[in-house]
Amino acid sequence: MEKLNFDCETGNYHTFCPISCVSWLYQKIEDSFFLVIGTKTCGYFLQNALGVMIFAEPRYAMAELEEGDISAQLSDYDELKRLCVQIQKDRNPSFIVWIGTCTTEIIKMDLEGMAPQCEAEIGIPIVVARANGLDYAFTQGEDTVLAALAHRCPNTKVCEDEFPLPSLENYVHTVKRPVSATRGSRNEVETCLSEQREVSNSMGLIEQANRNSSETKLKSNSIKSLVLFGSLPSIVSSQLTLELERQGIPVSGWLPSQSYSDLPALGPDVLVCGVNPYLSRTATTLMRRRKCQFVGAPFPIGPDGTRAWITKICSVFGKEPQGLQEREDKIWEGCEDYLQLIRGKSVFFMGDNLLEISLARFLIRCGMQVYEIGIPYMDKRFQAAELNLLEQTCNEMNHPYPRIIEKPDNYNQIQRIRELEPDLVITGMALANPLQARGVQTKWSVEFTFAQIHGFSNVRDILELVTRPIRRKNDLSELGWEKLVY
Ligand code: SF4
Repeated sequence: MEKLNFDCETGNYHTFCPISCVSWLYQKIEDSFFLVIGTKTCGYFLQNALGVMIFAEPRYAMAELEEGDISAQLSDYDELKRLCVQIQKDRNPSFIVWIGTCTTEIIKMDLEGMAPQCEAEIGIPIVVARANGLDYAFTQGEDTVLAALAHRCPNTKVCEDEFPLPSLENYVHTVKRPVSATRGSRNEVETCLSEQREVSNSMGLIEQANRNSSETKLKSNSIKSLVLFGSLPSIVSSQLTLELERQGIPVSGWLPSQSYSDLPALGPDVLVCGVNPYLSRTATTLMRRRKCQFVGAPFPIGPDGTRAWITKICSVFGKEPQGLQEREDKIWEGCEDYLQLIRGKSVFFMGDNLLEISLARFLIRCGMQVYEIGIPYMDKRFQAAELNLLEQTCNEMNHPYPRIIEKPDNYNQIQRIRELEPDLVITGMALANPLQARGVQTKWSVEFTFAQIHGFSNVRDILELVTRPIRRKNDLSELGWEKLVY
């Protein structure tokens, strides 16, 4: 059988900076405070990109590094502690996340070394996440924060018996405990430093988990609970929780939770499953550090993806899924008005937010022709189930396998767009306007990150986004304003 086509170019990354993840995470985790430690550039970026007015009192702030900090003449620690005390006094968060930036990476600022001391002195947890512009895509900021938060989740009873958790006062004295036994920051010093290196090595665990999914089922007697990871609006996470509960599968928690005290318990008796395709670092941390069992499923985007996601989880719990096919059919029926607009039309993904494979699979199922899936970074092991579903969808829809281009070169892509003339290009913000001015219909990929696109209930939201440029073009043509159809 023909296999999916993978290619790799050497293009530059044209993506938002991952520190932008604070915009959705501070809203999701209601008792958090995000302190971004960077330069004026980072401050301007946050201010412009997130456009939050000062009177909206967002729960994030900048700790601005000056020249003196960069040349290591000033005491970073005193200033950071002063800011944290101020934040604690003004906003009283349950915990503070220090977000690293390019600058803290470049000057090798020892955030992980400073956090435990600050934490012990001010008395609230400080989580360090290195979400900086050196990542492939802006969505990976969420991955970094969730991986850091995974260390702070309590242990399940099984873990607790084996490795009791240290108290807050003992954080700084727990270096010699086994890594999986602690949830203190000193633990993070060791784990964060080795995490980047480990991602590539330990992805073998994900591969193995994918291979052994049937074995996971055999182990299900010892499995107590299911934890889902990925940040979704609360209403969407409740919908997915309900879908699983309808199948008789209780969800014991989400990472992230709405509050710090609700972080889910983790351990070897916990199954974990992701809802977003850019969370491979979190998956690795959950498996390697917290000893959870990973469920490799396609992502619940579109009715087809949601059905496959629930089916996979059901299979691991040894349950026969009930009524999913009927549910999916009904949703497709209810979207017929949108589907008529896009069936037979073509789409080209330039690559931006790592949601590309899932969206392309969904659009092929809608009847669109996908010419190319550009993606800044392809983790084939974490996305294995999604890639299988893409392949299966292509076969069932009689669609040729689209080219999947990792790290695409935008110059080459523009040549291909000229040749192929797709009806729609889904692209990052930087390229959308220039393409639109050259007569190409575009959609900002970032909109899919912020829209509610998961689960059975939100399919019309995805289709609303995809069809908007096409409807606009049709409307203008009907009015005879072709000239405005650039
Ligand atoms: S973290 Fe780096 S890429 Fe992001 S805004 Fe700051 S300087 Fe720019």
